[in-house]
Amino acid sequence: MDVPEVLLDADRIARRVRELGAEISADYSETGLVVIGVLKGSFIFLADLVREITAPVIVDFVSMSSYGSSTCSSGIVRVTKDPDVDVEGKHVLIVEDIVDTGWTLKMSCLAENLQAGGAASVRVCTLLDKPCRRKVDVHLDYVGFEAPNEFVVGYGLDFDGLYRNLPYIGVLNCEYQED
Ligand code: 5GP
Repeated sequence: MDVPEVLLDADRIARRVRELGAEISADYSETGLVVIGVLKGSFIFLADLVREITAPVIVDFVSMSSYGSSTCSSGIVRVTKDPDVDVEGKHVLIVEDIVDTGWTLKMSCLAENLQAGGAASVRVCTLLDKPCRRKVDVHLDYVGFEAPNEFVVGYGLDFDGLYRNLPYIGVLNCEYQED
């Protein structure tokens, strides 16, 4: 198993997560929020983020797949688990690990479905944003870091199921297919 080259170390991630938590806490202090993590990649970021949020918070998850075990987006998105919580009248924050082409967010229609379910507002927070790879326009309200055009792993992000447990985010030396 290759050892990924460090891109963002654990301290840097923790500092940024604290800043995001403070910003989100201020924005939702009056209303509270429902945080919906997109599994599996967001699970570590979400666990750290919600502990930095001081506003009342409900945690839920959705699951969707677009990558399989490849490093190249297939463009096909399957929602495999819907949220359990009733979002009617609630302020929802979708939490993603990384937004790359934007297809997963767009084609899942997650934000639209939450709005249709009566959510008072829907915003998106992503740990990593790769704007240089964007294929469809998606609006991101909170971004942790801009990522380079490399395949990154760690802190929840995987390659073929591996590396999610790395405490840092690293660049994997693999064949990264350009779409
Ligand atoms: P998109 O649909 O925006 O192209 O891709 C979103 C999903 O693709 C992410 O939630 C993540 O699962 C996967 N992905 C995109 N880029 C990377 C990357 O650099 N590393 C890893 N591990 N996953 C990625």
